[in-house]
Amino acid sequence: MTDLPPDAHRALREQLGVYVLGHGTPAERAAVRAHLDGCATCRAELGELAPLVGRLADVDPDRLDDVPGPPPGLGEAVLARIAAEGPRPADLAARRARRARWRVAVAAVGIAAAAFGGGWLARPVPPPPPLEAVAVEVDRAGVTATADVVPHTWGVEVRLSGSGFAAGEVYRLTVRDDEGREVAAGEFLGVGDQPLHCSMNSSVLRQDAAGFEVADAAGAVVLRSVL
Ligand SMILES: [Zn+2]
Repeated sequence: MTDLPPDAHRALREQLGVYVLGHGTPAERAAVRAHLDGCATCRAELGELAPLVGRLADVDPDRLDDVPGPPPGLGEAVLARIAAEGPRPADLAARRARRARWRVAVAAVGIAAAAFGGGWLARPVPPPPPLEAVAVEVDRAGVTATADVVPHTWGVEVRLSGSGFAAGEVYRLTVRDDEGREVAAGEFLGVGDQPLHCSMNSSVLRQDAAGFEVADAAGAVVLRSVL
């Protein structure tokens, strides 16, 4: 042990989980390093924590958004479990290792919760896209269709709803700009009488878009819209 005040030792031990995971501010990390230099107990504990980190390293932080957040109360449950461990006539080293694992778990839960919380707070609620209903002229028996366009910064999106497009047949949507250029905006498969909702995207900006067409596999125009 060291001649540090016991409170400082305890506070820095609590930081070990965060430290070993590579988190904390530079000042906090420097404080932990300084304490480790003079405290064999904490160095030993760090040695026990380090192997656990490899398993956490397998977690891809980019995928954190894809997994559900920690259930509410998990942190408290972990703490309660630690409290319940209490003193018992168990092997001291095993208990210390168990506490060390919990400390990493608590630190990881805290970090994950902060990441999720930060993500939720930072993630802007997207405003509903400004849909512009446009007239569609259908030139095919049995086909019905309506469309909206969405002006994106990268081009205009055409949201097409309809039915009667021959099942399994490929349809192509092209957007025409105001210079007469035809720009492919994607393809879709007809699903017969089933309702069809698809979203087609083109690189033509809304203000440059003069209209769009849907053609069948043979190139015959099925519907068109003038914007
Ligand atoms: Zn210490």
